Amino acid sequence: MHTDVLIAGGGIGGLAAGLACSRAGCHVRLYERAEAFDEVGAGIQMGPNVMRVLRGWELDVPLQQLAAFPDRLQVRHALSGAELGVLPLGASMVQRYGAPYATIHRADLQQVLLQALQQRDAVWLHTGKTVNRYVETNGAVGLSLSDGMDVEGDALIAADGLWSRIRQQLLADGPPRVAGHLAYRALVRQDDLPVMLRSQQVTAWLGPRLHVVAYPVRGGEWLNVVAIVHGHVQGSLEDWDHGANAADLQAALSTTCTSLRELIAAVPAWRLWVLCDRPPMGSVDQMTRGHVALLGDAAHPMRPYLAQGAGMAIEDAAELGRQVALVDGVLDVPTLLRRYALNRWQRCARVQARSIRNGGIFHLDGPMAWARDASLRLLGERLLDVPWLYQGP
Ligand SMILES: Cc1cc2nc3c(=O)[nH]c(=O)nc-3n(C[C@H](O)[C@H](O)[C@H](O)COP(=O)(O)OP(=O)(O)OC[C@H]3O[C@@H](n4cnc5c(N)ncnc54)[C@H](O)[C@@H]3O)c2cc1C
Repeated sequence: MHTDVLIAGGGIGGLAAGLACSRAGCHVRLYERAEAFDEVGAGIQMGPNVMRVLRGWELDVPLQQLAAFPDRLQVRHALSGAELGVLPLGASMVQRYGAPYATIHRADLQQVLLQALQQRDAVWLHTGKTVNRYVETNGAVGLSLSDGMDVEGDALIAADGLWSRIRQQLLADGPPRVAGHLAYRALVRQDDLPVMLRSQQVTAWLGPRLHVVAYPVRGGEWLNVVAIVHGHVQGSLEDWDHGANAADLQAALSTTCTSLRELIAAVPAWRLWVLCDRPPMGSVDQMTRGHVALLGDAAHPMRPYLAQGAGMAIEDAAELGRQVALVDGVLDVPTLLRRYALNRWQRCARVQARSIRNGGIFHLDGPMAWARDASLRLLGERLLDVPWLYQGP
């Protein structure tokens, strides 16, 4: 007897959930509204907590070829350019946490997950299918799709992202909140940059009301650059990917150090995201009810200042798979999903809260910024390392 799992959304969270459930013996049907499994071009950082999960799914060989493995994270002052602190990554992370710190193009991670899922039996992946609503009936859950089709399964995993429809039906807690921060993102070939601007490490520049992060992806051949500034844009927020005006970004960073301004000027094109999140989760009931469970951004959308949103989605998926493998057939589906949520909600809430706090610290000005810089100079590695996060889940 196989549990029949329905998944709404085929982003990193949905694909990871499909893989984890399939590995645990479930039948998986996944519905993605886009016509193809396409990720918008940008990078993500993955701590050892995430790399351990991916290794457990035997994805380390393809990841080795596609990701980059920077050997240090350095924090610099955005205005002076001075180095404030360093966190050793590379072998040091492996030694401390048993897995590396990686940086990867989203599309590459998505392809690795997708290919692993496509190789499994009893997995059906549907694109061009928007999930409208669910109905719980007689120990099952039904989904109605925008093309008029209805499907039924034992459990529904909502991995439909920040603007999750399933979440609205389940919790009716309104739209996500606007953080008041804008993210400009770009990918540039390292060969197209002046030698001085090329980098194989993670660099974060911190400044008043702004910060910039750059790191290598695609085996180090490309540099991913993200610049966060305070601001708002007009228009639909759900359509979160906009073309960006490079002149706006250059104006926002006009007082930063020369090397940072040169890097920003060397990037040929930017995309703009309006950052939204939700307050940290307050209880297990915000993650599951009955036969429905939320996963990834649908459950706990967060600001990207701990670089763990996708990481938490992957950890969620691993926990879901673990619960299925442990108690499938022994416990009913609502109890199984509740065990999943019980083991996830507090850690995800902590990551949400820490992400908000980091944003505040990164963007400090005046005496508070001076105190931050002095602490980083003094304690560097101790402040930058996050053992409770990297040791988990
Ligand atoms: C600037 C920035 C930098 C970031 N950096 C990092 C980082 O370094 N490390 C990290 O771990 N995370 C990072 N994140 C966070 C990360 O991008 C997200 O947390 C992660 O992508 C969430 O994945 P998800 O699968 O839950 O949601 P999504 O990626 O949003 O996927 C949801 C999927 O559901 C589909 N969908 C939506 N509605 C429906 C529907 N009704 N029916 C069917 N399908 C539907 C969508 O088309 C989409 O494919 C960053 C985010 C930002 C904005």
